[in-house]
Amino acid sequence: MSDCLFCKISAGEIPSNKVYEDELCYAFYDIDPQAPTHFLVIPKAHIGSVAEVTGDNSAVVAHIFQVIAKVTKQLGLDSYRVVSNIGEQAGQSVHHLHFHVLSGRDMTWPPG
Ligand code: C5P
Repeated sequence: MSDCLFCKISAGEIPSNKVYEDELCYAFYDIDPQAPTHFLVIPKAHIGSVAEVTGDNSAVVAHIFQVIAKVTKQLGLDSYRVVSNIGEQAGQSVHHLHFHVLSGRDMTWPPG
């Protein structure tokens, strides 16, 4: 999508602090970290949110979770939280599917 911030970040058109990249997904440190380690993993192909995942595009979601498992191991993280906000009330501010990976501090439950 031409006007999507995260499409532009994954295409390298807007700078970001990259954690990982392959042909299907892109991971980068969050610009406003909410934990000592906080990065986002996004598909390169535009999907608006979890609400837009279908049988036709869901393979990238499984791939992203494999990437999260691999990258967190590489970073030496053995405890972390994976979060995806869907819709305004849940706090979604960027309408391109993304999984937050947060680590390095005690987490509370339930999330606020
Ligand atoms: O779940 P939500 O949609 O609010 O998450 C979007 C995330 O994208 C925020 O944590 C925000 O800090 C991050 N962001 C970023 N780089 C940008 C714009 C937003 O890391 N240029």
